[in-house]
Amino acid sequence: MKAIVKAERAEGLVLRDEPAPQIGPDDILIKVAKTGICGTDLHIWKWDEWAQKTIPVPMVVGHEFAGVVAEIGSHVRTVKVGDRVSGEGHLIGMKSRMARAGHFHLDPETKGVGVNVPGAFAEYLKIPAFNAIHLPPEVDDEIGAILDPLGNAVHTALSFELIGEDVLITGAGPIGIMAAAVCRHVGARHIVITDVNDYRLELCNQVTDAVTVNVSREDLRDVMARLNMHEGFDIGLEMSGAPQAFDQMVDYMIVGGKIAMLGIPAKATTVDWNRVIFKSLTIKGIYGREMFETWYKMIAMLQSGLDVRKVITHRMKAADYAQGFALMKQGACGKVVLDWA
Ligand code: NAD
Ligand code: ZN
Repeated sequence: MKAIVKAERAEGLVLRDEPAPQIGPDDILIKVAKTGICGTDLHIWKWDEWAQKTIPVPMVVGHEFAGVVAEIGSHVRTVKVGDRVSGEGHLIGMKSRMARAGHFHLDPETKGVGVNVPGAFAEYLKIPAFNAIHLPPEVDDEIGAILDPLGNAVHTALSFELIGEDVLITGAGPIGIMAAAVCRHVGARHIVITDVNDYRLELCNQVTDAVTVNVSREDLRDVMARLNMHEGFDIGLEMSGAPQAFDQMVDYMIVGGKIAMLGIPAKATTVDWNRVIFKSLTIKGIYGREMFETWYKMIAMLQSGLDVRKVITHRMKAADYAQGFALMKQGACGKVVLDWA
């Protein structure tokens, strides 16, 4: 099969022939239809410090996918050949306290598809049947291919009660933009989203109704005054990984505000904890998405009017993947979806 592979311990990825995965009794084999390129894949392309420490070589990469089930293992009862599916890319163990309590997303043994084990940028992908998510007719393959990052957005946004709240989102990458759409869908009042990249803020304006702010030239205090906000944001969703963005968020939170942190800083950073303490802020770290409550809710929201399609700005053949990665590097795109047909 054709697959995009980290073939050497160096920058870049190659498209080449690989043996198709062999499934075990509890697995399914998916004929991949579409895949999304993630920021994580870009880290793997660039072969940065995190990638060097994490990614086995050689390995097929990619973890955002939708496709059709081509084969099922002998124990599988919940999935049939021909089912259209996406899937949770975190493979869990069943030994830990959290997993056994049903909090699967908190399992410390988690392995990532396309990160620790062979991934989805291929004609065929193997995952445990447990991880499969059936796609209803309202969710087509390209939306199916971005449910993984939409799930990050949904899990982060729904961490705290949003109805009637004022929300600050730092980072208008695809996940920040989709989080803004989710906040709007579930009834937040003001949604302010910041970035330093005008392309991304303009894209957010296409996708949802949020106040976009380029913090490299606009002052958040002026924006709050314009919105008649006096005390600060009730909810903060950190989705940039930029330490300056987190600092700014702490500055503009209401006393007693709540922050959910998804963005991954490139290295260890310092935080002025006094400000967090004296503002009595609650901070929650977010990894992945809940299995499988986030998947249930996001599909339900997609079926009831949540529309994130415009966050997909580029669609291309899998063979043109290098062009997709180049766009990602420049930040001149929303989601890039690869077609494996
Ligand atoms: P992205 O890199 O496309 O978006 C981040 C955005 O933040 C960019 O548009 C960038 O211009 C912007 N930014 C940079 N500096 C800023 C600043 N000072 N203020 C405001 N914005 C600033 O990433 P994405 O795919 O949308 O993902 C968002 C973040 O979430 C990334 O850090 C990613 O690594 C992380 N992530 C975490 C998880 C998890 O499980 N915790 C999962 C997926 C992604
Ligand atoms: Zn991803």
